[in-house]
Amino acid sequence: MQRKSLGVLYHYLQNKYGLKFSRESLPQSNISEKQRLWFRQLLAMIQPLKEIRRQRIAFMLNRDNPLFDIITSMVEENIQCIDLLQSHANQWQQLNKYQPTVVVSSPSALLMLAMTDEMKALPMLNKIVALGALLDPLDQQCIEKHLSVPLQQIYMHQNCIIASTCRYGTLHVNETNLELEKEWIDPVNKRFIPIITDFSSENSGKRYKLQNVFKAKTQACACKAPELALEKSEGHCEEIFYFPEKGSGKLKPFFPSFVRQAFMRYAHLIQDYQIIQLTLDRVQIALKGEIDERLFRQVKERLEDLFLMQHVDSPAIDFISFEERKVTDDQVRRMRRQFIM
Ligand SMILES: [Zn+2]
Repeated sequence: MQRKSLGVLYHYLQNKYGLKFSRESLPQSNISEKQRLWFRQLLAMIQPLKEIRRQRIAFMLNRDNPLFDIITSMVEENIQCIDLLQSHANQWQQLNKYQPTVVVSSPSALLMLAMTDEMKALPMLNKIVALGALLDPLDQQCIEKHLSVPLQQIYMHQNCIIASTCRYGTLHVNETNLELEKEWIDPVNKRFIPIITDFSSENSGKRYKLQNVFKAKTQACACKAPELALEKSEGHCEEIFYFPEKGSGKLKPFFPSFVRQAFMRYAHLIQDYQIIQLTLDRVQIALKGEIDERLFRQVKERLEDLFLMQHVDSPAIDFISFEERKVTDDQVRRMRRQFIM
């Protein structure tokens, strides 16, 4: 991904990931003991609590994020909040003065920081934490390339910590604080939609279905943690395509990771993309970057190989310009199925 102007990048990231957390479960004031405990649990995921004192942790958050109030109310010397709503120059002034060893922020803000290359002015930095939405693999690659320090992901939904990565980069479900049920959609390959009962926050006991598909790891993680290890998140349920299986005609799911895998191969050429399944036999692709006829052909051939490998009928593939891509609501998704199953 090439450098973009900050304004354009901010707009893109705001649409793609959103920059705010839910306010439903964490009121703006009256920080309760339960919320402080919840924050301690979050800190323990970032660093073992006995080592926290040796770190200087900067949380880069919007001032109206409920987490901002919790952190500032705790008055910890080695934890500081930096407001993302203030000017970029002020953010950098604070970061430079504070010289954090750990920076925690949303995937969108981290991607923005990575793209400006200014994190290189933070020599003490030894870890960054993407907190909130799950990172798109293309964005993760970009952050890791630019920042060159270990990246941890903590996936949260409505202030519930769903999963976090261990030192081996494996995403583990936070089974200490939540109960996980699996709605299997592809049991052979261990793909399921998680149903969560959250016991960790003000939502205690609330049960709901996530709109993400997880793929469980078939082998234990090297860290030996007992919590369920995930191979990956396959993406949002709306991102799952369906095509007729060869021979039977039965509809078979085609997971976003297959498509991402195909596009990652050309990550050095493709800045951004969108792929929409219009009908059972037609998909539409918009590419942005160093695009030419050869790349169109390569992407098409790669996808056709994937359709073949998955034993589904190959749909027709149309290419459109990136400017013509579909933005149907306030969420810009790289993949979307346009019809309801
Ligand atoms: Zn692990």
